[in-house]
Amino acid sequence: MLLPKLSQFLRRRFLAASESGFRYCWPLLPIAVGIIVWMSVDREIARERQSFEQSLASSAQSIAAGYARYLTRSIDQMDQVTMQLKYDWETSKGTLKLGDLVARGMFTSPQYVEVAIINGKGEVVTSTGTASSAQSYAGRAFFQTHRANISSALRISAPENEPASGKLLVRFTRRLDSADDDFDGVVIVTVTSDYFSTFYDAAALGNHGLLAVVGDDGRVRASRIGSKASGVDPVALTYTPRFGAPQDGNQAYGKGEAWLGPDRFVDGEKRFVAWRTLSAYPVTVMAGLSEREQLAPLQRKWHTYRRMRDAAEAAILALAALLAWIVHLIERRKTRQRSVQAAYRLATEAGEEGFYMLSPIRDENHAIRDFRILDCNERGAGLLGKEKKALLGQTLSENYRREEFARLLDVYLRAMDLGSYREEDEFQPIGSPAPRWVRRKLVRSGGELAVTLRDISDAKAQEGKLIRLANTDELTGLPNRSWFMKSLEATIAKSQEDVVALLFIDLDKFKNVNDTLGHATGDKVLQEAAGRLRQALRPSDHVARLGGDEFTVVLRQIGDDAEIIRVANRILAALAAPFHAGGATMEVGASVGISVYPRDGTTAGTLLKHADIAMYSAKGHRRGTYAFYQHALYEALKTRINTERELAEAIERDQFLLHYQPRVDAASGRLLSVEALVRWQHPVRGMVPPLEFIPIAESTGLIAKLGALVLEKACRQIAQWRSDGLHAVPVSVNVSAVQFQLGDVDDLLRRCLAESAICPSLIELEITESAMLGEQASIVDRLAAIRAIGVRIAVDDFGTGYSSLSQLQRLDMDVLKVDRVFTADLGRSTESHVLFKAIVSMAHALDMKVVAEGVETELQAGMLRELGCDELQGYLISRPVPADAIATLLRQPHGLIGADADQPHLRLIMSC
Ligand code: C2E
Ligand code: CA
Ligand code: CA
Repeated sequence: MLLPKLSQFLRRRFLAASESGFRYCWPLLPIAVGIIVWMSVDREIARERQSFEQSLASSAQSIAAGYARYLTRSIDQMDQVTMQLKYDWETSKGTLKLGDLVARGMFTSPQYVEVAIINGKGEVVTSTGTASSAQSYAGRAFFQTHRANISSALRISAPENEPASGKLLVRFTRRLDSADDDFDGVVIVTVTSDYFSTFYDAAALGNHGLLAVVGDDGRVRASRIGSKASGVDPVALTYTPRFGAPQDGNQAYGKGEAWLGPDRFVDGEKRFVAWRTLSAYPVTVMAGLSEREQLAPLQRKWHTYRRMRDAAEAAILALAALLAWIVHLIERRKTRQRSVQAAYRLATEAGEEGFYMLSPIRDENHAIRDFRILDCNERGAGLLGKEKKALLGQTLSENYRREEFARLLDVYLRAMDLGSYREEDEFQPIGSPAPRWVRRKLVRSGGELAVTLRDISDAKAQEGKLIRLANTDELTGLPNRSWFMKSLEATIAKSQEDVVALLFIDLDKFKNVNDTLGHATGDKVLQEAAGRLRQALRPSDHVARLGGDEFTVVLRQIGDDAEIIRVANRILAALAAPFHAGGATMEVGASVGISVYPRDGTTAGTLLKHADIAMYSAKGHRRGTYAFYQHALYEALKTRINTERELAEAIERDQFLLHYQPRVDAASGRLLSVEALVRWQHPVRGMVPPLEFIPIAESTGLIAKLGALVLEKACRQIAQWRSDGLHAVPVSVNVSAVQFQLGDVDDLLRRCLAESAICPSLIELEITESAMLGEQASIVDRLAAIRAIGVRIAVDDFGTGYSSLSQLQRLDMDVLKVDRVFTADLGRSTESHVLFKAIVSMAHALDMKVVAEGVETELQAGMLRELGCDELQGYLISRPVPADAIATLLRQPHGLIGADADQPHLRLIMSC
């Protein structure tokens, strides 16, 4: 818990530092190093200089000390020489000849310029030289000093320039005393000033070293710069040195040292000088070392140091400059990057998409185990239910539930592998209140992953709604055909070895309900049927509405046929129960066709087709049952389809003729009218009865054409009979409920009547009661339009539908044809007798004639007469017969069906 927080903190600090101006300090680093190098070189030079000065001081001191010793010895020597000469002069009582001494090899050394003895008047008494012999020294300072001073100590004169030789000469002088110790003259030893400086050692002093001898009067006795004596040159020093007295009693003589500036020397050099005052003589020696000369080797070294330092400094400066340039470049690039990023951010922030940069986190085996969020936009953070600040630096695993993270990691790894990847996904991040649908795009960029997320929840919801709408039947709320087909295909694809049963359910009498009670009631029945189906099934079974009154059920993982049958029976039972809708109670029932995967087909299309065929077979066999698909059914259906095709052709080619069945007066047996019944003269199958093709004509819509054809034929037949001079009886023509619903029967009637120019009273229409119930207003209108033409209307097959007489009352009909099931029941049960009687009396009350259909026996005929039935129709009187047979009958005198012995009023004229 702590570690990730710490690493996060450090990470932020690092990011902040690199964001700050810290990087500008980088070029200062080499500059600091340069300063340190500079200072250490200077310090080193200063240190060396200091130690050099120390060594210079000590060598100057030792030279000065050596010089002092040397000079003491030299002066001692002069002291001895002058002492000896004084002695010799005084003992010889003025007879000493110095020329003799020279002859004896004395004073031959070149340093001796002249050795002379002068008398008390200053005149040269004897001398080694000649030049000065004539001269008088009486005015000279040393002479006067000696004369005035009784001390016989050696004196050293200040150097004097001898004009003749141009040399600087120094005189050592000593007072001569007479026997009475009066001043008696002076011994003079004249030397060149070189005498003091032959000590010069070039090894120690160099070529610009200084040696000087200074008297206590501050006047320079001798000086020398370099190995060459100054000779006639001006003295080396340009000032009058003052050295002071010896410092204390412990020291033999005064000593000191100092740097002297270039103004102190004639050659303008700066020197380090050391001096010592001789203890025995009033003289101070000075030794000086030229700074320039002594420093020369060090100066060279230091020069090298400085050159190296300068080179290093130059390099460092160059490095600093380079660093500054690099920092500048980096900064410029960063600025550009920032502006690009800013623009990019602006774009991504403005966009609808969430954006993230992720960097993989790897384990010790280098395998990616998570991702870290390096960057994101606000929208992206929002999609994860966080603020951008909080999200940055977090890992993917911190933001997703464990299973979701595992799945996402797979996707992200795939993107890292493939370079790019996209998917749509429903996900719920930890911080998000609800799951969202997103479109995710991943692109690998360098070692990182750029991810964009677009929230498509709304689009998905819309899409889902559309899909639901597209897949749902609006009326019942059940899945519709398109969903069903897809679902069945998917089920088949998944089932492999499993058995899947498809049940095709068709409501049996729905059409009736729709036709008679109207669409609103029909819709309610369908909704109720859907609800019952749902209840009859397991939740795992799928029920759908294909359209109309057709439903399908898919049973998965079903065992054997017995199990399927159990379900089919449950469905049949559920739908068999009466429906209550639109104020009516009705029995609808259903038929179920079953196809089984893989036995009856392996595709959704085949299975559906086969279940449909099975359903037709169930319906054809006995309504309200189920049937499994059998190949034979398929053949039957093929036949039906063929029939449909043939029927269309037959109508085009007019392969139909009409048979007529007489309707007679129940009491007299007189022929009152005939019913036209259509027959199909099939070129191969022969005479086809109407029940085999009328339903097909109705279901295919061919009934309109067929109905028109029949009406035309009937009208033409009447016209024919009339033109044959026969007394035509009215012909009743059957009008199918479908044809009646189409609503143009009155137009058709008017056309046919006009074409054949017959009286409308010769035509009667038979319409089943089912056709007359439904939208009452339009039916009343249609019936009224027909009756307005003068055509009578009969209710056909009365008793089979849902109508009651009271319902028919308002419709103002002429004839009621009671269905033959009632006729057949007569004599079998007393209830039927009662029922028939009620029908008759009610019909009469409504001013309708009652026709009994299907009268086959005399018994029935007798009972019907007794019941007050007006007309009879049935095989007992006549089967339907061709028009010729009717013509024969019409030629009969009273139009009576002839009587025989047992039935005085009736005679069977045809038995075809
Ligand atoms: P329907 O209108 O009830 O016609 C009477 C049917 O009952 C006729 O059958 C007739 O042959 C039969 N029938 C008559 N007397 C008896 C009898 O005593 N016993 C028995 N068992 N049957 C008897 P058909 O000709 O096969 O016609 C069947 C149905 O076909 C008709 O029933 C009618 O609904 C329809 N149909 C016939 N012709 C036409 C037509 O031109 N147009 C329309 N729309 N339907 C027609
Ligand atoms: Ca009829
Ligand atoms: Ca009938």
